[in-house]
Amino acid sequence: MDLHLKNKTVIVTGGARGIGKAIVELLTEEGARVAIVDKLTLPNKTLPDRNAKGYYFTADLGTAEACQQVVADIVAEFGQIDALVNNAGVNDKIGLEKGTPEQFIASINNNVGHYYFMTHYCLPHLKERRGTIVNIGSKTSVTGQGGSSGYVAAKGAILALTREWAIELLPYAMRVNAVIPAEVSTPLYESWLKGFSDPQEKLRQVSKKIPLEHRLTKPDEIANAVAFLISDRSSHTTGQWIFVDGGYTHLDRSIS
Ligand code: NAP
Repeated sequence: MDLHLKNKTVIVTGGARGIGKAIVELLTEEGARVAIVDKLTLPNKTLPDRNAKGYYFTADLGTAEACQQVVADIVAEFGQIDALVNNAGVNDKIGLEKGTPEQFIASINNNVGHYYFMTHYCLPHLKERRGTIVNIGSKTSVTGQGGSSGYVAAKGAILALTREWAIELLPYAMRVNAVIPAEVSTPLYESWLKGFSDPQEKLRQVSKKIPLEHRLTKPDEIANAVAFLISDRSSHTTGQWIFVDGGYTHLDRSIS
């Protein structure tokens, strides 16, 4: 299926690693021009890895000013924005007991602040192109996790904003959707596993409970859903939360 993404300009936040990197690789294979926004220190506008058409923009998305600047830099380079994938995030384990009010607010800012900032500053450009937005969420927003108040609150807000923006942007025929991973093998996931005394045993326990094939989701499988949702092949899909998780969040827990 041709996704009609050739020469479309797509911004992927957190695109240097993990899920974001898989999204960047797939979109460039589909012929899109991808702007990768990430903290990783690389010279601006260089090509990381095999991203033949991806361009790197260094930014820490922690402030509105940084987001405004990086959007301006991307528009100066590409002249248009057709889609925004809000993906950067970190499960920083700011909980009720292990955490402070200041850390909670910082976690919210780091996990959902830039979803708003980036969308706000991209909007005038997206409106010109009937652009699309995909927000990456987390199943923790509907299941809880324990010890992750900031991250989980932010991910809940991301689902709410997906619905909110889908409605606000109807007059411009713009679509907004969310893709929700659960357990995906990425650097973020590996560092989460390392927090357990026996990471391999924890991985085995989690995998056992994933109904479809008893394995983690691959980053490519998240990327496939994202590419479909930003493409015009999903032209009547908006405000949706798509779980790509091997059935982990919703299927009957008595199965093993
Ligand atoms: P990852 O492997 O840590 O990759 C995320 C990338 O985003 C990293 O390069 C990171 O840079 C960058 N980043 C984070 N915060 C940033 C900021 N403020 N400014 C600029 N760059 C920033 O994470 P991942 O597992 O691919 O996760 C991607 C998304 O999926 C996140 O929103 C996460 O919540 C969600 N998710 C993942 C899983 C999973 O199982 N992996 C499950 C549910 C949801 P640094 O490494 O330098 O911080």
